Amino acid sequence: MTNTPTKTPGLHVDSLLAHGGGGFDPATGAVVPPIQTATTFVRDETYAPVLPGQIYSRDSNQLYKQTEKLIAALELGADSRLFASGMAAVAAVARIVKPGGTLLAQSGIYWGTTHFLRKHCAHNDIALVEADASDLQALSDEMSVTRPDLVWLEVPSNPFLKVADIGKIAELCKTTGSLLAVDATAATPLVLKPLTLGADFSMHSATKALNGHSDLLGGVVTASDAASEAWSFVCEERLAGGAVLGSFETWLLLRGLRTLALRVERMNRNAMALADYLEAHPKIDSVLYPGLANHPQHALAKEQMTGGYGSLMSVLVKGGKDEALKVAGSLDVFQRATSLGGTESLVEHRFTIEGEGSGIPENLLRLSTGIEHIGDLTADFDQALAAL
Ligand code: PLP
Repeated sequence: MTNTPTKTPGLHVDSLLAHGGGGFDPATGAVVPPIQTATTFVRDETYAPVLPGQIYSRDSNQLYKQTEKLIAALELGADSRLFASGMAAVAAVARIVKPGGTLLAQSGIYWGTTHFLRKHCAHNDIALVEADASDLQALSDEMSVTRPDLVWLEVPSNPFLKVADIGKIAELCKTTGSLLAVDATAATPLVLKPLTLGADFSMHSATKALNGHSDLLGGVVTASDAASEAWSFVCEERLAGGAVLGSFETWLLLRGLRTLALRVERMNRNAMALADYLEAHPKIDSVLYPGLANHPQHALAKEQMTGGYGSLMSVLVKGGKDEALKVAGSLDVFQRATSLGGTESLVEHRFTIEGEGSGIPENLLRLSTGIEHIGDLTADFDQALAAL
């Protein structure tokens, strides 16, 4: 039970975030909710739950509800569900497609999603079509033939930072009767709101910027229509499939969300400045970042995204694998680790992870920009590139 401000109706989402989606707990006066460790909740003498809907934690509890309500408000969506990881959220949505159906997934996206979809579809007699979603004409031609049950986009894509036109693809989906799901992890809901552009589902790895402290695994799906059959299915997947977020992780996520607006503002500003700096550097071939004027979908990104272009970018170092690894090895402020969206900046040589045949250029370094002082980030690249 929370006590949200009532004298200032329609609080800005930044304020909702700062309050963790709730006011104080009237039972204790605490300004933050307790970690809800109970797995089960009592019923009264008439066998009605003491708190409506609170029966068993795999189904729901007050802490999930508060966090999900906050994320739904952030997404301008109807309802959200937390999952045990981003991949558990991807899997719950992908399972909407039944054997014999077709799933169209954007090509060149997070390899974990592609890997899961390939295996899942092969095991379940689902046709998987992989297509470049930034080529609208080709996508439209493909969709009119295959008429997919579900279209899966990732905007911006990881690690190529391609920007698909969600509004136009949502229109295509209406003509083919397809559901549209968008993984907007690299943008955050403050920057990109797929549901307002016509998507049915917005998905995030909460492991990344939503939590922002690299200390939990989590995922979340938000729906535009809480009454749809597809949403009932996703909710049932969470309940019956059991891929729920732990109580402590939910509490940590809610705490992380309190500073989301501040962190995203700084990370986006740092990323833009770093992209400008690296683009002008003689030892960098190119920078893949939608905020740059020469990005192929910059105009679209400017229209679709608000308050910046996210904290993820990739850079192609002049030379090949050896040069890229030398730069990664010389960086000092940037930590050499996978993932993105944390307060600390990270660098990753994706080719080492994905390997031959993955289509990842050997000279590509993926950067997640944190909240450090920008001068330290550019100075770090300065010294690392000087080592070449
Ligand atoms: N989606 C994107 C864009 C990602 O980058 C990742 C992980 O890196 C995931 C989904 C999967 O999330 P998780 O690691 O929380 O399962």
